[in-house]
Amino acid sequence: MTCIYCLKEAGAEYRVNAAGVVFCSDECYENYMENQPDTPDDVSHPYIDTYELIRFHYIDWLRNWESDLEKVRFNNPQGKADEMNDTIDEIIDAHGDFVRAEGDDGVFAKEIYRYVLKFEELQKQILDWRPERQAVYYLPLDELPAGSDGRFRNWRHFADHLYGIKAVNLFFLLKDNVHPYDEMVFWFEDEAYLAEVYEELARVFGDGTVKDLEAFEAYRCEGSCGDYVVIEDIDREALDGWFYCWICEESYCPGFFSEEELLEEIKKVDAAESIQEMCQRRSNWFSYIPKIKRSCRRHSVAFPDWIDCGTA
Ligand SMILES: [Zn+2]
Ligand SMILES: [Zn+2]
Repeated sequence: MTCIYCLKEAGAEYRVNAAGVVFCSDECYENYMENQPDTPDDVSHPYIDTYELIRFHYIDWLRNWESDLEKVRFNNPQGKADEMNDTIDEIIDAHGDFVRAEGDDGVFAKEIYRYVLKFEELQKQILDWRPERQAVYYLPLDELPAGSDGRFRNWRHFADHLYGIKAVNLFFLLKDNVHPYDEMVFWFEDEAYLAEVYEELARVFGDGTVKDLEAFEAYRCEGSCGDYVVIEDIDREALDGWFYCWICEESYCPGFFSEEELLEEIKKVDAAESIQEMCQRRSNWFSYIPKIKRSCRRHSVAFPDWIDCGTA
C-alpha cells in the first residue's frame, strides 16, 4: 500500500477516505483532502466516526500494549493481560453489526471489520506475551560458620557479627541485597558484583569456606510478592511460561486449562445447584474465572453463561 500523497509505503497507521484511497498518516490525508475539490465528503459519511474511533483505538493499542504489560511485569502482568483482553472484547462487541455483515457496506465498513480482526489477532498476542527475564544470582550463606553461635540465624544476626569484626566492606556489599523472605539468602543482579562479594567473603571467612558456596540462578516472581525464586525450583511448564512463586501460583492461578480440563470444569460448574454457592465454595473464584476465560480464548471455546458471576 502506497500513500497517494507522499508516495511512501503506508504502515500500520494508514487510513483511507470514502473512495478507498490510501494514506500513510492523518497528515497526508488532510493535506490531500484539502487540495482536492472533487474528493468524497468523508465528514458526512454515516460510518466516519466509528471508523476513526476504532482506527484511533487500534493504533493506540499497538503503540502501548507491550509497554503497559512491561510496566507491571512484577505485579501480576497476567492479570493485566486478562484485563486488556476483556477491554478488547468490549471494543469488538461494540462493532457486532459490522462483524455480522463481514464489513459488507462500503469502504469504511470494510475497514472497521478489518480492525475487529486485527484486535482479535492482538488478543492472541497478548495471551501469548511473557516478559523477557533477566536472571539474578541467589546466594545462600546459611552455611557460614558463626563461631560459638554455630550458624547465623538471619541478616540481623549476621550484620551484628560483621559489625563486631569490622567487616565493613562485606556489610555494605550485602545490606541492600538481602532476600525479602529467605533467611540468610542474598541476591545479586550481576556476576561482577557476585565476584566482589565472593572476594570479600574469602577475606573475612577464608578461602576454604567460600569455595563451598554455590549461587543459583533465580527470577523475581511476577505475582507482586517481590520474592526471588531459584529457577529450577519452579515447574514453568505447569505455569505456561509464567514465573510465579508457589504462594502467588495459589492466588493468581496462572496459565491455562487444557481443552479437556476446561470442558470438565465448565461441566462441573454447570451442574452445580447454584453458581452463587459455587463461587462461595471456591476460595480462589476471583482468579479461577480469569483462568476459565483465558482457557476459553486459547481453545476457542465460548464463555459459559456464569463467566461474570461473582466478579462483575
Ligand atoms: Zn503519506
Ligand atoms: Zn510470588
